[in-house]
Amino acid sequence: MAKHIFITGGVVSGLGKGITGSSLGVLLKSGGLKIFMQKFDPYLNIDPGTINPIEHGEVYVTDDGAETDLDLGHYERFIDINLSKHSSTSAGRIYYEALEKERNGKYGGKTVQVIPHITNEIKQRIYKAELESKADVVITEIGGTVGDIESQPFLEALRQVRMEKGKENVMFVHVALLPYLKVSGEFKTKPIQHSVKELLNLGIQPDVIVARSEFDFDQKLKDKISLLCSIPSENVVSCPDSDSIYKVPLVIEKSNLHKIAAKQLDLKLNDSKLEDWNKLVNNIENSKEVLTVHIVGKYVELSDAYLSVIESLKFAGYEINKKIKIHWVNARKLTEQNIKEELSGSTGILVPGGFGEDGVQGKILAAQYARENNIPYLGICLGMQIACIEFARNVLNLKDAHTTEIDSKTQNPIIDIMEGKNRENIGGTLRLGRYVTSLKEGTKASELYKDKVAVERHRHRYEFNNKYREIFEKNGIVFSGLYPEQDLVEIIEYPKNDFFVAAQYHPEFTSRPNKPNPLFMGFINAINKR
Ligand code: GLN
Repeated sequence: MAKHIFITGGVVSGLGKGITGSSLGVLLKSGGLKIFMQKFDPYLNIDPGTINPIEHGEVYVTDDGAETDLDLGHYERFIDINLSKHSSTSAGRIYYEALEKERNGKYGGKTVQVIPHITNEIKQRIYKAELESKADVVITEIGGTVGDIESQPFLEALRQVRMEKGKENVMFVHVALLPYLKVSGEFKTKPIQHSVKELLNLGIQPDVIVARSEFDFDQKLKDKISLLCSIPSENVVSCPDSDSIYKVPLVIEKSNLHKIAAKQLDLKLNDSKLEDWNKLVNNIENSKEVLTVHIVGKYVELSDAYLSVIESLKFAGYEINKKIKIHWVNARKLTEQNIKEELSGSTGILVPGGFGEDGVQGKILAAQYARENNIPYLGICLGMQIACIEFARNVLNLKDAHTTEIDSKTQNPIIDIMEGKNRENIGGTLRLGRYVTSLKEGTKASELYKDKVAVERHRHRYEFNNKYREIFEKNGIVFSGLYPEQDLVEIIEYPKNDFFVAAQYHPEFTSRPNKPNPLFMGFINAINKR
């Protein structure tokens, strides 16, 4: 039987509940425990796969092909585990499945209600995660803030789990904002008190408060929060803002949150050894020199849309003690007239994944600029397709070459829809998750992976059209990664240039601190060489 830690948020969203939960996971794992993490999101979309990244940030893909919230990326990167579809559930999915059961007569003629039917669905998911992960500790984060209408059924389900399993098996950690008022020079505890009251209204007494504040605070304030929120003073944890999220596990270690959890949940916890984290933080602090990467995308106003890409670039940079600066280039605004000005001086160009027509023309220009000027290029998913279209148009002289995602009538469908996929039913129907790519010997890809295969995650519906393989090869493109089972192109490279590599998969989902994905490492090394 696993122990459970539930993470709720108070006062405002965006406090880093996910980072707090993951950091706690890091410490518990380093103390010898097996950890599983999951997130409940109160929105009504069935999964975030169809939500605009401007609203919700990137869609993170797990090994087993679930399209999930970006917080799962933090969980995986921090704890260095591979999560699954059990790690991500939205209110929409819960209702969808409950209503399906209703249509199929599974509720035996009962009136279907939030309590018990929806709450039971939620509890089942918690128990399923416990069962299938065989973890010692399951950490569950509830998205949003306590008091939101949508999160109430989730909190009610958690209350029931606590009642069923007892305090020695279930711990509530409430992460809440402790604002500092500059005018009067003091911290204000009232918002935290209010959010704890909200929890109490729902029958939940938190065991720990993680107060998120601008600065560290003293024992006197801990005692005050303790008194007003009925929590032992040692269970009030200060978690001040940090200049890097990767320093938070060290902050949590100092706060003893892992020991508080071990005590309440009776966990056998060895001394934690955070050598890896210390190494990472050292690398971060020693990374003074800056390398610049031009990312040509369409969501430049919101870096969360490319979160895993950015973190992957940073990890690769830290390995060689370099700070990465992202220079955002809005693909929608790139034209033949301004491309030189926009990309002049660039030392590395990355075209990330994407869907739809918007910005595609600008991305094609960027790939051309990189190829013609021998600037290191890393293409990811759509970024690979773009590189192929550009090559076909400008080297093979197939002027109307395109992807049928955008031009279904092109005479030269270099990129075409995969067999068995259709354009209409867009939710959860892509080629998703982990597939094994065979690497061709003697190529950049095989040199970088130092292996015969690359195991990476996918999220796409279109593919390189094999009819064009020969003519591409004759003109210098190497297909260095293939998926033999379906004869799909997974990696292309252009060896005439120092570094021109593009993958149909998403290498950013397997990058971890101290273990950057090989393609990112190759790209950053190439930039550094320049
Ligand atoms: N839109 C492209 C496809 O569906 C690329 C997807 C992506 O970049 N994730 O194949």
